[in-house]
Amino acid sequence: MHITSNVPRNDAATSPQDEETARQPLPSWFSGSEYTHRVAADILQYGPIARTTLAQLLGLSQGALSRITSDLLHYGVIEELNPDDPDLSVKKPLPLGFVPKESGGERRGRPQTALQIRKNERTFIGINVRGNSALATALNVSCEKIGESHSIDFEDQNPHQLCKALAELVHACVEDTDRARLSKPVAVGVSIGGHIINDSTVTFAPFLHWDGSVDLASMMTRECGIPTGIFNDLDSLLHYECWFEAGIGIPRFAVVTMGAGLGYSLAQNGQAIDYGDKSYGLIAHTLVDPEGPRCYQGHKGCAECLTNDSIAEQYSLNLGKTASFEDFAHDARHGVPQATQLLNRTCFRLGVFIATVANIAMPQKVIVAGESSFVARMNTESIRKGIESYRHSQAGPVSLEILDDIWDRWACAAASRAISRYMLG
Ligand SMILES: [Zn+2]
Repeated sequence: MHITSNVPRNDAATSPQDEETARQPLPSWFSGSEYTHRVAADILQYGPIARTTLAQLLGLSQGALSRITSDLLHYGVIEELNPDDPDLSVKKPLPLGFVPKESGGERRGRPQTALQIRKNERTFIGINVRGNSALATALNVSCEKIGESHSIDFEDQNPHQLCKALAELVHACVEDTDRARLSKPVAVGVSIGGHIINDSTVTFAPFLHWDGSVDLASMMTRECGIPTGIFNDLDSLLHYECWFEAGIGIPRFAVVTMGAGLGYSLAQNGQAIDYGDKSYGLIAHTLVDPEGPRCYQGHKGCAECLTNDSIAEQYSLNLGKTASFEDFAHDARHGVPQATQLLNRTCFRLGVFIATVANIAMPQKVIVAGESSFVARMNTESIRKGIESYRHSQAGPVSLEILDDIWDRWACAAASRAISRYMLG
């Protein structure tokens, strides 16, 4: 097995190979077989992990695993923990239903020695663009933050101005890694709401109002001097949950996001399901309430009624005067009857939407996220009722998790894409 450790390519942007950069915007840590990359990724996701558990997880013999791990140790990608290392007490969930042999049928016991990723060997930057603002943070290989997050507002949304604004954020994050005495970031992940091809070219970005395709990855790489990948924001969140958070070890789960739009994505075996047209919000016009309001496309009671604009419109109608989504949120928190009524109905409709997702996609878990996920948290009882109204009485309950919308999470999610590209090659 041959592995070569790649030197961080911070100078890639200044190289003349822009075409190459556009095809493969992000570097990888090492060159090796698919299994070598998989072993490294599993150690990142599940580590500290015992060799025996890892071999069982990957279906590899101890010998084959040993050859791979000794290469990874040699190139400084992973490290071996001593039995008394405090990091050994870190427990991450293993895949659902996986029973490690060495723990006698129980969850894995305390391993005697274990492998883990050398998390501070490399650093990354994650940036999320939201409307006319962006937030960035520096992270290590384990997607742990280094320093504080940085945000910036930009008035002009044109790609060049956006690049300049994002470059300022990159600069601030590089200072954070310097202060922490860590190496310079090897890659930047930027996430936006839109359709992106080859992790580089934005072909559709409704919230940025761009006309035509923009090779944002090449522009950013040139501007910042660090290889940059561009990713869809919802896919990135899904990926982050798979690799580092609520989705670890869950074979199939769905994420529904509430906010300016309604988002939906599905992950299978740690990967977002790839479907060329999914960033067009295809599920947002699914029927959730035959008595619901009419959407801009003329459907009655489609899931668009869960978006901020529709909620504002419905609330205005209820009140008989113009009200914003923020007015609704404020009034719902203060128990204003018209707001409570709309809150209950919205949560019930969200439940119906979740039931549709659960019945068709059959995930082990549905995660609700997005900037308006707090609405879901305000009435989970109505969500449950909505789900039950479209589930068979003998069907198991839908496992549901509502995530608080912390903007940091979206920036970390963008970085997680760059990290996985770096790990998997
Ligand atoms: Zn519709």
